[in-house]
Amino acid sequence: MANTERAKQLFLDMARINSPSGRERPMVDFLMPILADMGFEVAEDDSAPEFGGEAGNLIAWRSGSVPSAKSIFFCCHLDTVEPTEGINIVEDGDTIRTDGKSILGADDKAGIAAVIEGLRMLMESGAAHGDIQVLFDVSEENGLHGAKALDRSKIRAEMGFVLDTERPAASITWSAPSHESVHVEITGAAAHAGLAPEKGVSAIVAASRAIAKMNLGRIDDETTANVGVIEGGKARNIIPDHAVVHAEARSRSEEKLVDQVDHMRTVFESEAEAIGAKAVVRSEREYTGFRLTENDPVVRLAASAARRVGVEVNYREGGGGSDANVFNAAGVPCVLIGMACEGAHSASESLRVPDLVLSADFVLALCLEAAEV
Ligand SMILES: [Zn+2]
Repeated sequence: MANTERAKQLFLDMARINSPSGRERPMVDFLMPILADMGFEVAEDDSAPEFGGEAGNLIAWRSGSVPSAKSIFFCCHLDTVEPTEGINIVEDGDTIRTDGKSILGADDKAGIAAVIEGLRMLMESGAAHGDIQVLFDVSEENGLHGAKALDRSKIRAEMGFVLDTERPAASITWSAPSHESVHVEITGAAAHAGLAPEKGVSAIVAASRAIAKMNLGRIDDETTANVGVIEGGKARNIIPDHAVVHAEARSRSEEKLVDQVDHMRTVFESEAEAIGAKAVVRSEREYTGFRLTENDPVVRLAASAARRVGVEVNYREGGGGSDANVFNAAGVPCVLIGMACEGAHSASESLRVPDLVLSADFVLALCLEAAEV
């Protein structure tokens, strides 16, 4: 069993380190000696300039003594959303939260604490294990930048576990959607709204007509779409000749995603055209989805680790993007693992200590199962 006090203390120490995206230097400096003390070769990659961060990804490797073992990696991100400055931590029995003025940062520091505690237990047990890699990456929250910039050749393990999703701890998320951003620019014609409205073509009206006709929200059980931002117009008395719309679509089915983006494009274009405006629609792939099954070795390993720690195997479908999308797209199979966080990205974010202990036990179990296959 994990050392509850040690795991909790490590989490509390990290929660007090301010590390919003792009400013992870103190987290890298804090964790490097810890991993080195545990016998890992530790390095920081040189990806930081690619996304304007102050620290690169932390990559650690420890060779094992079981040649037949599966080599596995554990991944968590070092950055958090904001606000975290001036964090005031409140302990309420088994639950850790803040005073409500900042986030807690259990996303993803509860994952990091579980990985370190799990690996510490492994080293202390003296159990034989295979090769283990730790990837603590940066600037995940603002666009998966660290994982995207990580040189593929630096991932030496054959499969991985990304501890970056909420409770239940030790749950296994084996799919995630692809995500496409949709950027629309509508051009109409400006005119005085009182003197010559007939001469104007309102870009805002074109956008509104399109949005009103569009299928948005939950399209089906694996597809969603949203219009998140609309900007346009200069003054109340001018018919607006320009509007910009930022939208998105996500789906775990590639075909449905393409259909949804096509639908959004067509509606914007035709509704603009109907009133004499013009819509230019540009879509961009933010990340690519993945879908694994019970037959994939990485899923099988996670399921046996769950049984080993005595929890029911809990497969889940993912609804968002994470580093697991990037690694799967790069050909390294990995699943997302639930850890001790709840209410991520909000001031009511919390961590339950028993879940932290369970996730650490799960990390240990993964290492032991990987050595036995
Ligand atoms: Zn996260």
